[in-house]
Amino acid sequence: MQTQSRRLVENLLDKEALVFPPPKRFDTLRIEAAVKEILAAIGEDPEREGLLDTPARVARMLKELTAGHGADPVKELSCRFVEEKAGLVLVKDIAFSSTCEHHMLPFTGVAHVAYLPQDGQITGLSKLARVVETVSKRLQVQERMTAQIADALEALQPLGIFVMVEAEHSCMVLRGIKKPGSATITTDCRGIYKQDSQARSELLTLLNRA
Ligand SMILES: [Zn+2]
Repeated sequence: MQTQSRRLVENLLDKEALVFPPPKRFDTLRIEAAVKEILAAIGEDPEREGLLDTPARVARMLKELTAGHGADPVKELSCRFVEEKAGLVLVKDIAFSSTCEHHMLPFTGVAHVAYLPQDGQITGLSKLARVVETVSKRLQVQERMTAQIADALEALQPLGIFVMVEAEHSCMVLRGIKKPGSATITTDCRGIYKQDSQARSELLTLLNRA
């Protein structure tokens, strides 16, 4: 019986796998040339010793920070189990660092990810952190990142999804209005957590527990 339902889950997964566009080629040499150009444009000497390796370093860094482009976070959820009595699953304080697409500066914080399984369909706990990691390694806005985590969780067909992201944006700390310590909170509630305010407030109570 259990094997049967697991097979069913796998079949559903194959059919519903989201198709992502293949990643465009990461052009290291082009980035290195562009960084050199920026250094010159701000009045620096790209040939001075301290800056010689900077274009290559920046290119390596950007490759790491954008590794989630073209990657499908749903793939992280392909490991499924059926645990018939499973109730709410909540993973709090998943630390992440992402890159704001408006300024290409980091925003860092934590994501809290919850879902209420349907018919006991669950995934590994660490997989939720991997979903957060994949979508954070893209040029992002926090609102879209929050929704992309929730979108990925839809693959589990849960009864409810709740995602909350709390972050500090370097672009608000280092420049412009310069407000260190300000936290931006975004949420995405779906299913029972959207429709049922009591279910949502129970979840918020759990989140607020130290
Ligand atoms: Zn920004």
